[in-house]
Amino acid sequence: MARNWVLHRVCDTPPFMTAEDLSTATPYRLSVFHQSLKFIFLVRVTSLPAGLYHDLRSSRPESVPDRLRNALLSGDYMDSGFVDEYLEIVDEVSWRIGGYPRECVKVWRSLREAVALVTGQQIDVDAPKDVVIEDATPIFRFVDLPPSIKTRIYQICLRRGRVSVGDWSTYSVPTTLKRRTEYEVDVGDSRVVRKRTTYTCRLLGSGTWPIVALFQVNRSVGEEAATIFYGENQFRFLGTAKSTLAFLHDRMPRLRYIRNMSMRFCTDASIKFKGCYNITGSIPPAPRTFIGAWRRIFNALVHTTPGLKAFELLIDKDFWWHAPWYNGAEAVFTTPALGEPHGIRHYEGARNFLQHVARLAEVEIRLTIDETEEDEERGTVRRELDALMRAAAATRPWLALDEYPACTCGRRLLLSESCIWDKYEAWRRPR
Ligand SMILES: [Zn+2]
Repeated sequence: MARNWVLHRVCDTPPFMTAEDLSTATPYRLSVFHQSLKFIFLVRVTSLPAGLYHDLRSSRPESVPDRLRNALLSGDYMDSGFVDEYLEIVDEVSWRIGGYPRECVKVWRSLREAVALVTGQQIDVDAPKDVVIEDATPIFRFVDLPPSIKTRIYQICLRRGRVSVGDWSTYSVPTTLKRRTEYEVDVGDSRVVRKRTTYTCRLLGSGTWPIVALFQVNRSVGEEAATIFYGENQFRFLGTAKSTLAFLHDRMPRLRYIRNMSMRFCTDASIKFKGCYNITGSIPPAPRTFIGAWRRIFNALVHTTPGLKAFELLIDKDFWWHAPWYNGAEAVFTTPALGEPHGIRHYEGARNFLQHVARLAEVEIRLTIDETEEDEERGTVRRELDALMRAAAATRPWLALDEYPACTCGRRLLLSESCIWDKYEAWRRPR
């Protein structure tokens, strides 16, 4: 509620008021003031013409000063003594009640001006009419804070180090996750059994969940918050490639802020889909990565993440069973369908999963393979492969700025029907 009450007797009101001279009064208190003033005035006044007296008796208390003013300006009354009486009673009532409504300052001033006009007098400059209200109550606006302070607040609310993304459980998608893009995963021993699920984001380790509600405040706060959340956390994609792709699809406009990512490629054919069973547990190893989803991830990343600086590729130890590492890093890097199941048909020259990662131009690529550094030979191949991928990435054209990616499917819930799965890459041609 606005500060609508002056805390002084009228004659004691300082010419300049600050917040200390004002307070807030209820409508009831304002009403008591106006009614008391009208009642005392009508009881005591001696110079009020009879017609005006009857008019005021039937009028609303708040309208009395306006009616007195109109009566004066009408020219029907030569004597303005009743206004002097009224203003004396105003002063007394403000003293008895402990203040007066702030809105009256203007009304009484115009009443005095009317008297001056009719009688040709100068306005009394000492009266509270000349009060200038300076309401010093500061209004706090978050958006007016200096950028450095806002950034610090965003960091406290949103910077957590690592955000991990994995799959939700096989069997049900909680209603809180219903707005996320869903996808089907193979479960059980047969590829025929498919379950619909979605991804989940976790903070593994300590720390409270980032206050992502900041994204909803307004457009400018949302964008500023997004630069911190996506730019200053590492996003670790540890589940299926479809979970990664669904995450990217839901955040297409904000992917440009992402700077640091890590992603797991699984080659172990024996792992069954588990999903995440509870909110605090770590993200379990996912089944063998589906190259079709992997390819789409990098199709998206090379066009949507101009801010990406670091990318860590995590591979399970089964990788060594699939890779001809004894022939050297170059042989591994150029092996077609590396780590994929046998029998899948590829078009001529299709990239293997390492070559897809090496499409990330000017990104610091780091390769981590489970249980490798203990083995000297494999450790050497790992380091050579790492260097090879960086060298390949360095030769790639910088693509991230040549398109204007945006979701064109209206976030259809099923990944296989969404724009990011579309083979013509509909998200690169926003409507
Ligand atoms: Zn879409």
